[in-house]
Amino acid sequence: MAQLPSNPETIVSAVFALYMKNISLTILALVIASQLFAQQHKTENVVIVTLDGFRWQEVYRGADSALVNSKYTQDKQATRTKYWAKTAAERRLLLTPFFWSALVKQGQFYGNRDLGSKDEVANPFHFSYPGYNEIVTGFADPRMNTNDAITNPNMNLFEFLNKQKGFENKVAAFASWERFHQIFNVERSGLLVNYGYKNLDVPGINARLAYLNEIQCKAPHYLGDSTRIDFLTCEFGKEYMKQFKPRALYIGLDEVDDMAHDGNYQYYLDRIHQQDEFIKQLWEYIQSDPFYKNKTTLLITCDHGRGDTSIEAWRDHGAKVVHSEQTWFAIVGPDTPAGGEMTNSTTTYHKQLAQTISKLLGFDFKAAAGHEVGDPIATVTKP
Ligand SMILES: [Zn+2]
Repeated sequence: MAQLPSNPETIVSAVFALYMKNISLTILALVIASQLFAQQHKTENVVIVTLDGFRWQEVYRGADSALVNSKYTQDKQATRTKYWAKTAAERRLLLTPFFWSALVKQGQFYGNRDLGSKDEVANPFHFSYPGYNEIVTGFADPRMNTNDAITNPNMNLFEFLNKQKGFENKVAAFASWERFHQIFNVERSGLLVNYGYKNLDVPGINARLAYLNEIQCKAPHYLGDSTRIDFLTCEFGKEYMKQFKPRALYIGLDEVDDMAHDGNYQYYLDRIHQQDEFIKQLWEYIQSDPFYKNKTTLLITCDHGRGDTSIEAWRDHGAKVVHSEQTWFAIVGPDTPAGGEMTNSTTTYHKQLAQTISKLLGFDFKAAAGHEVGDPIATVTKP
């Protein structure tokens, strides 16, 4: 203990000085702690892109020779010319050149079972609504067992973010499938969710977005009226991003799954190739705009896998389709070490993605969600 002087006034001022010193130390400690926290999380914005029903098999192995040589590929020669090579490494580079020439060097890829990395949906249904619910709410809710237009009772990450300081009205979703209205519970969440062939109804949109509104009704509705063709969704998302600078953006694409259900392997591969190019443009834009550059995490994933146990199995998915719980995801951003292809022995689940992203932004979604939420995936932020 420090020796105190005998004079009462001196004692008072000495005690006061000690008291002030403690306060200063406390403030200093708080400042250091918050700076350390800020240093740990460089991510200020997040973009999630989902590709419906894109199998991990094509992500990691490229085109499948059995399918290219089957009745499911109409123009075999054209398909071989575009996507065929001897090794899986060459084939996947042809199919998704941006993934394997650029993203793999900057981020992390999960779910290559050939390397022992297992990524899965935790829900037992293995189709779209349950899969998207799991991604955006972190909860593999057994009640979400249909693709019908039921309203999602669970709080989702985007709704949560929209209430956080600095994120208010800086959150948006663009999707091809109209069901995202219910998935994001627009009535309750009040989120900006644009889907199907719905016009983007936002005041002050620029000429490019207005033009997209104008042309989308003229585009052929190949997938019916409830699902917009993906390139329009991509363009809406990208142009909205450029004009309005959302801090959390969701882009949900659909066509890969549609081509698989149709049994058209050539188009399935073509849509994958097209969406790789879109993701390239998106990431290059992110890294060229000072608002986003080196401050934005991009997550790319799918809602479910597909079968692989017979020549027909790739067309379908669901509780009865073996291996359709098997999925993948890729993540790139300022807090994620460049791990390339992961060889994690612990299975990752899509119910962990919401809290993983929330943590990167410095928020605890799990504590606020009011329902089960999977724990964050530690390796996303650790070397
Ligand atoms: Zn499907």
